[in-house]
Amino acid sequence: MNIGDDNSFSFGNGECAVKIENIDDLIRKSITELNQKGLFLNRVFMGNFNGANLYVDTDLPFGAAYTLPGVGIHIDVRTHQDYIGTDQQKEQEAIQLLKHEFGHILQATKYGKPHFYLLIAPVSLISAATTGQHQCTWTEIEANLLALDYYCKSFNDCFWNSSDYPVSEFDCSN
Ligand SMILES: [Zn+2]
Repeated sequence: MNIGDDNSFSFGNGECAVKIENIDDLIRKSITELNQKGLFLNRVFMGNFNGANLYVDTDLPFGAAYTLPGVGIHIDVRTHQDYIGTDQQKEQEAIQLLKHEFGHILQATKYGKPHFYLLIAPVSLISAATTGQHQCTWTEIEANLLALDYYCKSFNDCFWNSSDYPVSEFDCSN
């Protein structure tokens, strides 16, 4: 498989070559299809977080979230209530989760969406489904690092809960 700098990617060669020119179109088509199959039936658009679409997905258990760069960040109902609520501690925890999710968007910005969807997302998904150490998978540590750097530099917001959202392997060995 070849990933071009122009957000295109291709695999195969000669007569069997497949080239996808515009991954945004591909994402749009996939989301429409998944919608028709009912996968996003239970999600509600809530506005935006840092310019990314924010959705509540009522199928998600508390604290679970997923991000589809080009589509948006999906969080559970309770995390969203905490985010817009009045309890500062709970709000901080919700924001920390949202910052982590935003880190996945930063990965897609850094490497391009083809790289994100074809290489990062599968590793992240499989680790979430099969290991108890999802937050220590490199895809997660890197999302945390990118987000910490972004918030620190852009908003002078350098707070980070590195025990729940590790920024190095060292955070995982304790
Ligand atoms: Zn993640």
